[in-house]
Amino acid sequence: MPGFELFGTEERSEVNDVLETGILMRYGFDGPRKGIWKAKELEAAVCKVFGCSHAQLVSSGTAALTTAMAALGIGYGDEIILPSFTFVASFEAVISVGAIPVFVDVDDTLTLNPDAVRKAITAKTKCVMPVHMCGSMADLDALQAICKEHNLVLLEDACQSIGGSFKGKMLGTIGDAGTFSFDFVKTITCAEGGVIMSNRDDVFVKSDGYSDHGHDHKGVDRGADLHPFLGYNFRISELHAAVGLAQIQKLSQFLDIQKRNHAALKTILSAVPEISFRRVPDPQGDSCTFLSWFLPTEEATRAVVASLKEQGILGGNFYWYDNNWHYIRKWDHLKQALSLNALSPEHRAAVVLHASKNFSVSDAVMSRCISTAIGLLWTEEQLNDKGNAIVATVRKVLSGK
Ligand SMILES: *Cc1c(COP(=O)(O)O)cnc(C)c1O
Repeated sequence: MPGFELFGTEERSEVNDVLETGILMRYGFDGPRKGIWKAKELEAAVCKVFGCSHAQLVSSGTAALTTAMAALGIGYGDEIILPSFTFVASFEAVISVGAIPVFVDVDDTLTLNPDAVRKAITAKTKCVMPVHMCGSMADLDALQAICKEHNLVLLEDACQSIGGSFKGKMLGTIGDAGTFSFDFVKTITCAEGGVIMSNRDDVFVKSDGYSDHGHDHKGVDRGADLHPFLGYNFRISELHAAVGLAQIQKLSQFLDIQKRNHAALKTILSAVPEISFRRVPDPQGDSCTFLSWFLPTEEATRAVVASLKEQGILGGNFYWYDNNWHYIRKWDHLKQALSLNALSPEHRAAVVLHASKNFSVSDAVMSRCISTAIGLLWTEEQLNDKGNAIVATVRKVLSGK
């Protein structure tokens, strides 16, 4: 699953280029850097590999979401519709720009249910943010149609689905903007980093400035730059970008291995008729970082998780329903809006209201779901052992013995 599994000489060599000059900053120092521009090079590679007009690297996926929201003009009082199943970073970014996260149910795609999105639209809705969880995509046709009809912005959180696609277009490049995370456990990593992708010139220019203190990057040097708007520092360093540059060149290799291992594991699990699989709107476009599967009941799912744990083989199988990071059920800090600094009373009330709604429809999906992370280094024997152990455990649980 994560690119760190295949870290090697390529990454070391790219980092060494930067260490040779000692210019760790992505902007300026044109002379001493001797033509080494790793961040610029990685941005060009992102545009080429994923097929978008613009890419702006930043320091994390969270920073990428925050920057994209600012660049799309999302702020005070605006509502963003997002799924109940995501990583906490998605709503952190929403709250940080002063907007209101409006959570809606997921369906058996493990992503936004388009009907639930429709029902959540109000006069304040500004943006729909699908999160392409666990390597696979939301139904972008339906979501694009909703955005068009209601004049809403579509922002794709594709942090977990690098290399996935929908009907021939890469995830993250389909909406008004899209983001990837390159943190340590993502499909390609640069330790910490992220990127905003867009085909809109305005989104790019604003992201470029916002992530670097508002600098317009048009001056002869940094001191001569103008500041047409306020910004922050979400810059990536050259060291991080260098690692990413080596990793992006390995992406097609990662995806080939994932697809092969995913297909083999799915074949093994398919032997049990009670196991069903996540619905994937475009199966061709699944990046296959995870195989997500369902059992008929929460009770059976819990029993399988407990048994895998008891056998010492739960590792790599995720039961998100009980996980503190990825599903709304356990986000108590959000439900109570436990912000260190004061939110406006209005903002706070809206956050608490939307995070504390009834998510029984999502519960019915998530309580029966297990996601198995697909390893890049599995041998055929390890893969078969893993699959067969899951099958044996499920059979045992379902037979009640
Ligand atoms: C990892 C992740 C992020 C944030 O990325 P960081 O680089 O860790 O800040 C955002 N959204 C989702 C869905 C993620 O999985």
